[in-house]
Amino acid sequence: MKIHEYQAKAILARHGVPVPRGEVAFTADEAGAIARRLGGGVTVVKAQIHAGGRGKGGGVKVVKDAAAAEESAKQILGMTLVTHQTGPDGRKVERLLIEEGVKIAKELYLGLLVDRAAGCPILMASAEGGMDIEEVAEHNPDAIKKVAISPVTGLTAFQARQLAFGIGLAPAHVNKAVKVMQQIYETFVATDASMIEINPLIVTESGDLIALDAKVTFDDNALYKHAEFRDLRDLAEEDPLEIEASKFSLNYIRLDGTIGCMVNGAGLAMATMDIIKLAGGQPANFLDVGGGANAEQIKNAFRILMSDKNVKAVLINIFGGILRCDVLAAGVIAAVKELGVPVPIVIRMEGTNVEQGKAMLRESGLNFTTADTMGEAADKVVALAR
Ligand code: ADP
Ligand code: MG
Repeated sequence: MKIHEYQAKAILARHGVPVPRGEVAFTADEAGAIARRLGGGVTVVKAQIHAGGRGKGGGVKVVKDAAAAEESAKQILGMTLVTHQTGPDGRKVERLLIEEGVKIAKELYLGLLVDRAAGCPILMASAEGGMDIEEVAEHNPDAIKKVAISPVTGLTAFQARQLAFGIGLAPAHVNKAVKVMQQIYETFVATDASMIEINPLIVTESGDLIALDAKVTFDDNALYKHAEFRDLRDLAEEDPLEIEASKFSLNYIRLDGTIGCMVNGAGLAMATMDIIKLAGGQPANFLDVGGGANAEQIKNAFRILMSDKNVKAVLINIFGGILRCDVLAAGVIAAVKELGVPVPIVIRMEGTNVEQGKAMLRESGLNFTTADTMGEAADKVVALAR
């Protein structure tokens, strides 16, 4: 689960991480009032969306006083912000963070995430922080230093010092950096985060370290432990179809192609998307109905798939294990009878009770296209989508 910058900063502050003073605003009036409360001096107006790159996209404005903050809030609220992380459709801005302007001497980068290859959390740091970190990662990867963290010891002061010196911090700032790094790690563990990114972590002109931006993502599998995070969810930032799918425990991610996919098992779903591409098509979604789906879930999955107006054809690719092929066939037939399906459907199934399932599809009198192999299914569905 992603949260907004202002929410992430509040959580980090509770763990001692220094952040600028600021408050969330939903209207331009509120923005002006907050700017005045902050002292009425240099103010930063920051669009709150679940994506980075806001500065370059025009979603972060540094202004000289409260009146200018209010003016700038008027412009940013309601705008569709397009950044390199939002995709071409962008995101509508509905909240702002109104923050005191801070005098920046240096912008650093800190990133903490679970590294699957290393099998543990890793902390990354760079002296080349700020809005171009993606380019640094691509063209100058050595400028990003990393340490692997043992969950048993946590981030040790020694490791944090090694990173701080590794990115060339002046000795006067090293102890402050060590403290911030350890506080961030503490936040990471306490909140069951899967990622915390502070870009930039700044050194101010007076020599303090402050988290000027913050991105925190929680591990969805640990959310049951954190009732306190429930209110942080912003449904306006999520795809309505994905929200709907999550109600039925379906793993659904919307994509921008035309071929709807219904598959059981994440690995098979990935392979299905690959083979659709190989056949020259584009998947409209990733959908894993799960290994033990029942007819009701199949129906809901179908309804969600079909609500995507881009879908021109559907490929159902199921390996019958615990979910038997006859149960799948019953679910699909029921769904089609109830919901009607305006696009062609290709079904490929294999495994438990496959003959029975195929017979049910044939005898249903409904117009399904069947296929025996994944390759054949992909070719057929791509042709039908055209
Ligand atoms: P994004 O990463 O989405 O572009 P940031 O929060 O990192 O957004 O802001 C972009 C840039 O704006 C920062 O790198 C920093 O230079 C500047 N900035 C952000 N917040 C402040 C602030 N409170 N005071 C001064 N400058 C800021
Ligand atoms: Mg940033």
